Amino acid sequence: CGIVGYIGEKQAAPILLDGLSKLEYRGYDSAGIAVFDGEAIHMTKSTGRLKVLEDLTHGGALLYGTAGIGHTRWATHGEPTDANAHPQINKDGSIAVVHNGIIENYIKLKKKLEKKGYEFRSQTDTEVIAHMLDYYYTGDPIETIAKIMHRMEGSYALGIMFQDHPGEIYAVRKDSPLIVAESDQGNFMASDAPAILKYTRKVYFIENEEIVRLGRDSLNFYNIDEEELTKEPTMIEWDI
Ligand code: GLU
Repeated sequence: CGIVGYIGEKQAAPILLDGLSKLEYRGYDSAGIAVFDGEAIHMTKSTGRLKVLEDLTHGGALLYGTAGIGHTRWATHGEPTDANAHPQINKDGSIAVVHNGIIENYIKLKKKLEKKGYEFRSQTDTEVIAHMLDYYYTGDPIETIAKIMHRMEGSYALGIMFQDHPGEIYAVRKDSPLIVAESDQGNFMASDAPAILKYTRKVYFIENEEIVRLGRDSLNFYNIDEEELTKEPTMIEWDI
């Protein structure tokens, strides 16, 4: 029930674990992170407290890389199991997704993907997103994300990484909360500001159906028609 993402000059895993700990108040039954070392996406996920994930990754030290996405799950579709924890990935692990929300039409989407030969490894609604991104992938993440948004019904805040796009992470939302934040040492996404206030106060509020490409030192915002948007940051004044 919480999402965090980071891309920048620091190691991502400790930042993701710290950010997720600030979102614990939202409740969760499982947690996971995926970190991109520039060549491959590496993932660790588990049911239980964040402490389990911290121990499994030695406080993040076992996952090397400066880009990553993290998730705390509050199960809606599928029991709290390791396989159902996020990130969810496509068949070869080259696309990783974290998701808050519910894909209402996931059964219909799942049946279609199964007909195309996709095999499901979890009971989540989220896994259809990973396979849909795979199925519709054009090599252009913004175009592909816009394409699957037209097919998904329900609510979602997503963090996405594509193995063939190192140096970038993607964020998008509809009816689930998501912010993006900017700093001199990298850029962030999160369900809520407390996850990132330790690092920066420069926040962009993401509206429904907006897509964001986060680079190490760039942020680009798009609407569902893939038109680039100009957004102004808000300086968060309040303390946590
Ligand atoms: N519906 C998704 C699942 O059950 C996401 C739940 C959440 O928001 O944490 O895996």
